[in-house]
Amino acid sequence: MADTYDLLLSGGTVLNPATKTNEKLDVGVKGDRVTAIQANLPRTNVGRVIDASGCYVTPGLIDFHVHSYLGVNPYGCDLDADCLASGVTTTMDAGSAGPVNLLGFRKLVYERSKTRMIGFVALAQHGVFNEPGELLNLGFADLDGSAQAVIDNRDIAVGIKVRLHKKSIGENSRAALRLAIKAGEASGTPIMVHVGSTVIGMDEIADTLRPGDIITHCYTPQKPSILDDKGQLLPLVRKAKERGVIFDVGHAGGHFDFNLVERAMGEGIIPDIISSDLHGKLKQPGFGPVGDLPTTLTKFIPMGLSLEKIIASCTVDAAKAVGWQDRIGSLEVGREADIAVLKIVDEPVTLKDSVGAERVHKQRIAAQWTVRAGEVFQGRG
Ligand SMILES: [Zn+2]
Repeated sequence: MADTYDLLLSGGTVLNPATKTNEKLDVGVKGDRVTAIQANLPRTNVGRVIDASGCYVTPGLIDFHVHSYLGVNPYGCDLDADCLASGVTTTMDAGSAGPVNLLGFRKLVYERSKTRMIGFVALAQHGVFNEPGELLNLGFADLDGSAQAVIDNRDIAVGIKVRLHKKSIGENSRAALRLAIKAGEASGTPIMVHVGSTVIGMDEIADTLRPGDIITHCYTPQKPSILDDKGQLLPLVRKAKERGVIFDVGHAGGHFDFNLVERAMGEGIIPDIISSDLHGKLKQPGFGPVGDLPTTLTKFIPMGLSLEKIIASCTVDAAKAVGWQDRIGSLEVGREADIAVLKIVDEPVTLKDSVGAERVHKQRIAAQWTVRAGEVFQGRG
């Protein structure tokens, strides 16, 4: 007799912000689909039972900012094993590919990874680069090409990426930001804008963005930041938040400052999305102060965010930001079985930021298991 479920996650608390679920429920998986979510599912005719008691069973996490184009882009790194050990089932690459090399991203990254690796297409025709910066020569900006690449590749391309760091773009930031928005309009998608070390001010950037566009590295301490020299939130940044511009953490090596985060959150700049920005130039092993997505999420517990909000920021809210909420970011019967089993471990953890500060917190979020399309992977714990 065929098994009722190939996999039963038993005894955990299903925490699914998309459906406002936070209660003790079992989850049954058959093939690559979630087929049951209810209390006390029978354990007979089950292929494998995972004891999730004491854990939260959440939608597979979405890491909204990574660099996964290994071997082609200088920031690329091999993230598949790391994601599957961290509860991450979907990653958004932040512009490693542009219109001329998106096909390679499909073949080398998307098709070869267990993790669902999709992402933003760079306005720069060859993707974000290192030295020299990708748009120091504005001739590499390809409005029509990047928009068309998104239109032709909806299954892997979710928006347009532009970096405004002066090393990436020199004096071209104002022009490139406008071209990126035009590409976003032409493709009907949001743009993701890298801020920090820009020639133009954060107030101008924030004021130029449309509702739904994304500021990544929103808490960067690299000037100009979202706070002025006196530590006050810039008024146009507040307005942008109120207008529905999306604030994404994009931690990386250089974009997280505990003091600045605290101050900005106190002024109402709560992160819409919490992401890691893992890339290949971070110090190995362990990606420097970022660690991984669960470590980045952990940093917001002492900042006062609820676990529901933290999980929403890397599941349903991340999915909604790119219009993928019908496909990813929720744990529901009939959906692809992308699931994270997370535990709040009560032990001291030393958390680091980008400016050398450390904070000790008494708990951390630990990935116990990752389920990607029904396949089970052991978490890092
Ligand atoms: Zn990045």
